[in-house]
Amino acid sequence: MYIVHVSSELAQVAKVGGLADVVFGLSKALVGLGHSVEVILPKYDCLTYAELKDLRVSFRELWCTEGTTRYNNSIWEASLGGLKLLLVEPHHPKYYFSRGVVYGCHDDIDRFVYFSRVVMEYLSKSGKRPDVVHVHDWPTALIPVLHKELYSLLPGHDSGMLMTIHNMQYQGKCHPLHLTRMGLDATRLLTPSKMQDPFAPGLANLLKGSIVYADRVTTVSPNYAKELQTIEGGFGLHKTLRAHAEKFKGILNGIDDDYWNPEKDPHLIKRYATSGIASDADLEGVLRAKEENKKHLRTHCTMEKNQKPLIACVTRLVPQKAPKLIKHALLRSLDQGAQFFLLGSSPTPSVQMEFEKLKTKLSSNKDVALMLDYDEALAHLAYAAADLFIIPSLFEPCGLTQMIAMRYGTIPIARMTGGLVDTVFDVDTSSKPEEERNGFTFDYPDTQGINWALDRAIACFVKEPKRFRMLIGNGMRSDFSWKHSAPEYVEIYRQIQPAAPVAKAAP
Ligand code: ADP
Repeated sequence: MYIVHVSSELAQVAKVGGLADVVFGLSKALVGLGHSVEVILPKYDCLTYAELKDLRVSFRELWCTEGTTRYNNSIWEASLGGLKLLLVEPHHPKYYFSRGVVYGCHDDIDRFVYFSRVVMEYLSKSGKRPDVVHVHDWPTALIPVLHKELYSLLPGHDSGMLMTIHNMQYQGKCHPLHLTRMGLDATRLLTPSKMQDPFAPGLANLLKGSIVYADRVTTVSPNYAKELQTIEGGFGLHKTLRAHAEKFKGILNGIDDDYWNPEKDPHLIKRYATSGIASDADLEGVLRAKEENKKHLRTHCTMEKNQKPLIACVTRLVPQKAPKLIKHALLRSLDQGAQFFLLGSSPTPSVQMEFEKLKTKLSSNKDVALMLDYDEALAHLAYAAADLFIIPSLFEPCGLTQMIAMRYGTIPIARMTGGLVDTVFDVDTSSKPEEERNGFTFDYPDTQGINWALDRAIACFVKEPKRFRMLIGNGMRSDFSWKHSAPEYVEIYRQIQPAAPVAKAAP
């Protein structure tokens, strides 16, 4: 099959969070299964160009209308590992993708709605005929709407449309004028069964439009799929999802086990094998290597080298991730005789400031490190160095960090929400067999909940090393690769590809 992903993020070149990892990992897995895959994303000025090969313009003079004016665009192509990338460069007076950031501009809606329209124009003008166009989250959510409303009657526009919801919190609510400017009939679309926002009837909701118009809709874990259909978890779109329940499914994200691989991770000081860990004795090498990485991290962050357990947290410091609970966990860990390493940054200046203040306050404490930044290399080292990894999220569609942590032999402490429910099983309370239990969990996102799980985890490290090692082994033996989930996506692609499959190879 010929599959085109359209995304606002892609790991290694434009990463903000898990969306980037997922589009990258899934695309690579699909290539591995023999499919022809292309990823279209904006040509941000802040792209990381180091990994891109053969970058060149492949399509010029792609004119696209916004309102009453037509603007020129260029499409670049490049390869990233075995993956083909197409980069959209608008020659637009507002320099939509030359802002030094992926998100966070006052006109994000304009930027990504325009991007979506250029992508549709490109697919149309280039003569490309993907079997499936797979879009991700609100920035590309208008594509299935544009496809059905403006392009589907044109010859050759019979690609199946799949939308994946990575995070329901961000929906792309906008004035209907944004639809009109893209050539859509906003009056017809602004109805409860189409794109009208459930809370603000005067606004259009891009994510809702995608749910209504796409052939299939997926989200990133089975449990999040259930939560999204409840009034508590659906961010107002639970009714829309229920109305389209027959085309909606939760598929657990995978992690790219080649990229997240302690055996060849270039960011580790000491690499270690992850396969063949059948018994406690097989963990010796892992534990020795983790100790080396821990030493290195402690030196890097001027932390004391001692026998205390090291608890890590690598996260965006946004409300979803419960920054207050992270702060509480940090202080509680210190109180309970553990060390704490935080790698995180916030797009909200007040939150960033709060953590900067905490860092200053704790600057003489050698059991804690607050690295208030985005640092891919340091994240890899932290996964390898830590003993425990904490995720107290208020909600978590899937969560990748618990899976990465387990792959690196680090035990998660997780709040039971979204995909964390599908992947982390408590050593004491899970109904799973002992060999599948892999962490410490808590139900309520409050200080009592955290204390309960954190204290048990620290006590287990200190007093029950054998049990602790059992958890490390169980986590490392879990297979969180794309091996299981990529075929589930392929199954959906097959169901929605055009009746008479088009030519396999990308033109
Ligand atoms: P989300 O997409 O909500 O941020 P996920 O758990 O799905 O959460 O994915 C987070 C990804 O971003 C992981 O790969 C994690 O390692 C990475 N990450 C988050 N914060 C940072 C940071 N400050 N520095 C480096 N990597 C980070």
